[in-house]
Amino acid sequence: MMMQDDLINDCFALPQGISWTPVDQALRTLRNGLSCLAKSESVLVSDCDGRILSEAVYAKNSNPPNSNAAVDGYGFCGGVLSENKKFKIFDGRVAAGDDFRKVVPDGFAIRILTGAVLPSGVDTIVLDEECTVERDYLLARGPLKKGSNTRYKGEDIGKGDLILQPGHVLKPQDLALLSAVGVMKVKVFIPLKVAVISTGNEVYDGEEWIGQKIKKGKIFDSNRPMLLALLRKWNLEIIDLGIVADNIKKLRTSLDKASKNADVILSSGGASGGDEDYVSHLLKSEGILNSWRIAVKPGRPLALGRWNGKPFFGLPGNPVASYVCSLIFLRPALGVLSGSGWKNPIGFSTIAAFEKNKKKGRREFLRARVRDDGHVEVFPSEGSGRISSLSWSNGLVELDDMSQTIEYGDKVRFLPYSSFDF
Ligand code: AMP
Ligand code: MG
Repeated sequence: MMMQDDLINDCFALPQGISWTPVDQALRTLRNGLSCLAKSESVLVSDCDGRILSEAVYAKNSNPPNSNAAVDGYGFCGGVLSENKKFKIFDGRVAAGDDFRKVVPDGFAIRILTGAVLPSGVDTIVLDEECTVERDYLLARGPLKKGSNTRYKGEDIGKGDLILQPGHVLKPQDLALLSAVGVMKVKVFIPLKVAVISTGNEVYDGEEWIGQKIKKGKIFDSNRPMLLALLRKWNLEIIDLGIVADNIKKLRTSLDKASKNADVILSSGGASGGDEDYVSHLLKSEGILNSWRIAVKPGRPLALGRWNGKPFFGLPGNPVASYVCSLIFLRPALGVLSGSGWKNPIGFSTIAAFEKNKKKGRREFLRARVRDDGHVEVFPSEGSGRISSLSWSNGLVELDDMSQTIEYGDKVRFLPYSSFDF
């Protein structure tokens, strides 16, 4: 796992002479320019869901730790049972958790229950349903292979085996695996702190004005609740810096506060090159700024840079563009910075239940949803002001740069929103 204290200064620099950067080029630049900034700590496995491993983990014990019964039945020294065979029933029984010390001699079968460690002399189990007990005798119906209905010590994992790689994001099932092989604590990355700022004179904090009418010309802040929720979902620590007016002095103060307290700064709005785009003006004059004009719809202006050395991501103000840019560009970038590495969303190919003409040379992400028949439809309006389309959709259709016409029945790539998790 590459880990370093800081990023190189021009980590967001695109190659010269490109006016509209293709999505793949932008993603490559992010992937190559960034590295892990997170430090690590040791944490109890039971508290590790969603955390990112910072070191490889090896099994302390094998799984299973002992050969044991996979079913309820009778155990014996089997060899190959090609036909029915009679055994004398051994006095006693062995169940899960028992410390059974006796040896079961050849020709004997012992009552054994699921999870019980195989007693010495037992290597095969016949299921209850496949045997008959008559007084002191057991008739096992063959054929039965040696080792049937048992789980061998270490058949899943051997002691000392590599079980999980650094960068792995721990899921509930990983906690089962770690616990099974006796690993009780692991080293994980400490979540990065991400400061979130909304910008714009028109942007208004809904929570502060509950019950009041919105003034003419103002809009409620949609981006911050959405971005904060995405970051929480990605297990990052959030620092909510509220809304900042379009004012250089106030923005400077807010960015200083962000860089002092956070590892990464995220803002929305004011990121293009227009007169009112104070975020890009300020970063250009007093920080480092690379304005990315990405050949993507929605969401072209993306301002990437540094403020007091901290990586800065300036998302578009438009909530639809802001959301799509967060999924496509911000998520994998934060993955690298956080230690889980670069991850592409897992999409699949499906059938278009829509038609469309698009401009060549631009990647498009359409707000889409998979219907019950598995075909995918898109939101009727492509307007980037249609915030409702985000709730309506359950993923994005990704149309590649070169495609121009999509007809009903064509194959298209669908990226479910669930594939944008860490
Ligand atoms: P900007 O990128 O600042 O030019 O903003 C583009 C559009 O997005 C404008 O219509 C803004 O009013 C709107 N906008 C900017 N920030 C937000 C926000 N936090 N929530 C909702 N809309 C926003
Ligand atoms: Mg603005």
